Amino acid sequence: MEIKITETTAPNAKPDAATLGFGRIFTDHMFMMDYEPDKGWHDARIIPFGPIVLHPAATVLHYGSEIFEGLKAYRRADGKVQLFRPMDNIRRMNDSAERLSLPQIPEEMALEVLLAFVRHEQDWTPSAPGTSLYIRPFLFGNDETLGVHTVHHATFVIIASPVGSYYKEGINPVSIMIEDADVRAVRGGTGYAKCGGNYAASCRAGERAEEKGYSQVLWLDGVERKYIEEVGSMNVMFKVAGEIITPKLTGAILPGVTRRSCIALLKEKGYTVSERLFSVEELQRALSDGTLEEAWGCGTAAVVSPIGRLAYKDKEYTVSGGKIGPVTQYLYDTLTGIQWGKQKDPFGWTLPL
Ligand SMILES: *Cc1c(COP(=O)(O)O)cnc(C)c1O
Repeated sequence: MEIKITETTAPNAKPDAATLGFGRIFTDHMFMMDYEPDKGWHDARIIPFGPIVLHPAATVLHYGSEIFEGLKAYRRADGKVQLFRPMDNIRRMNDSAERLSLPQIPEEMALEVLLAFVRHEQDWTPSAPGTSLYIRPFLFGNDETLGVHTVHHATFVIIASPVGSYYKEGINPVSIMIEDADVRAVRGGTGYAKCGGNYAASCRAGERAEEKGYSQVLWLDGVERKYIEEVGSMNVMFKVAGEIITPKLTGAILPGVTRRSCIALLKEKGYTVSERLFSVEELQRALSDGTLEEAWGCGTAAVVSPIGRLAYKDKEYTVSGGKIGPVTQYLYDTLTGIQWGKQKDPFGWTLPL
């Protein structure tokens, strides 16, 4: 596919690694292409980073037809830049698109434009420990009418942001509140799709948890509020009496690339990993009788995030003595080792640019 490149005339200086947060600084360019039924995906272009002009009736602004992805480019010690399992993100993006009736992007085309864009911006990949270039592809409905119907015109964009180390002062366990009022997703809904709407609907519970001094919420299923689903915007795993348990993908849970990678690493290490229903009662029992050994969230941003405190219905429990447990630490070290190329990659997960 031909990609038209327009270089910026006002390049920005690369930021100092110490000032990097998450998603506040962007690279000099962005990728865009458009979709119409009779033309397919067309007008692929890398253009200077800047505002997107939308018609006031654009579908995304009214009916929330938007999906996104999140992956990172990592700078290795030899200076080369590599991606981690990008095809998994591309496939998931198409699954999300299908759920929201947005046009899909043929896999080879999606990989081609992603690689072209990241290669063009790769100098923005920082090299300080723990830093990376966060890549945010997103796709939205862009019909210029208020009529509710399947989207005809869609726009696909990729932006990139150099991001700092998630753990500047070492890995700190997080405190989690089990949410029993709001739900994030229901089976049959959009829980398995990475769509903006899921986030919009989950902000309120997150704010309430923060007001009470917790950093994120643990989501229960939307039907019975009985089974554990995710933690904040991460997948969740528990180690109970030697068994590693993670909620099975019921349709309400986002199938995380980090989740999938953790499962593979744990199985390779000989652990029993059960993808099954895990109720909040079972969790409470494991907390009370001391069989809960470790709990952690997993996702691209944090890799793994150990859970140190858990609150449910005004009762608070400490997990793993409020410290990171050995399995959580193993997953963190191994995944980051592979991602930054410090460790060999027996699974073929990394793709150098
Ligand atoms: C993106 C996301 C995750 C984690 O997925 P990764 O592919 O591991 O980054 C988990 N839950 C939700 C709701 C998400 O949006």
